[in-house]
Amino acid sequence: MTAMATINWLFICGLAFCLGGVVVLSLMPLSSDCICPLSRGRSQSDADRSDLQPSVPQSEHKLAVLVPFRDHFEELLQFVPHMTKFLKRQGVEHKIFILNQVDRYRFNRASLINVGFRFTSAVYDYIAMHDVDLLPMNDALLYSYPSAAGPHHIAAPELHPKYHYETFVGGILLVRVEQFEKVNGMSNKYWGWGLEDDEFYVRIRDAGMRVTRPEGIKTGVNDTFKHIHNRYHRKRDTQKCFNQKEVTRKRDRETGLSTVKYKILKVHEMSIDGASITVLNILLECDEKETPWCDCSGNVAVASAVTT
Ligand code: UDP
Ligand code: MN
Repeated sequence: MTAMATINWLFICGLAFCLGGVVVLSLMPLSSDCICPLSRGRSQSDADRSDLQPSVPQSEHKLAVLVPFRDHFEELLQFVPHMTKFLKRQGVEHKIFILNQVDRYRFNRASLINVGFRFTSAVYDYIAMHDVDLLPMNDALLYSYPSAAGPHHIAAPELHPKYHYETFVGGILLVRVEQFEKVNGMSNKYWGWGLEDDEFYVRIRDAGMRVTRPEGIKTGVNDTFKHIHNRYHRKRDTQKCFNQKEVTRKRDRETGLSTVKYKILKVHEMSIDGASITVLNILLECDEKETPWCDCSGNVAVASAVTT
């Protein structure tokens, strides 16, 4: 190749590189499009807008209602208006976050709650981990900021329609942000149904916290909550594969809030019958060497929402 030919090639390659760069840059999302956790500060333009100013003095505490979710649309249509009215009657400042699992792994309630917590904890100072199919029916069940030294279990065993053991903390649990951080959130090892809440109970106990429960409730197991859950229509995924049974019986000291791997693909602001919610489309990642039971089907899991 002559020196001239080499220079020509360099020119052509340089041009191609520049054009490629322009295409790549134009495809990159602008920084304002990033899906970032909520932050406390408001922009100047927000501060100027009177329609965004609270009409009543802002309450001291803010509740993020974190709802692990997949495919339960009918329940969601009941849950959102019901909870919005219920919390409004109590004057609880709150927002409902639907943690919508969009990957193709088995459902992971605990990891979704970890992700919801990471998204909201800069702005909200306590969370309610809340099943979408469990509706509180008694206004005496208070969702106010739990001032005791431990989490407050609303779906108490003596009130829950189905689970009655003393260490049960599932269904609906209020946790202050610093309490959730203290125990490193929930384990990420629980794919499929069950035991993640029991493991969380052990985390609470090991951290020296005590769970409180509602007191003086006059209703009982049949009329405190409505559990809109038909066990034939909504089958629980109780399958166990690989060494899931053995591992998930033990306390997990490795995984939690600090180790959950995920992407938030999209944040939707929407409303149901006038009640507003935020839907996070969450793609959980699974380390298939650590927890191969995130997919019991024998197929290689396609950890993507994309279909072809
Ligand atoms: N869930 C969901 N989709 C599923 C499985 C579970 O949205 O495929 C959520 C939903 O919020 C549900 C909660 O996880 O209420 C707990 O699951 P489930 O109701 O099966 O447990 P239960 O407490 O009734 O045994
Ligand atoms: Mn249920």
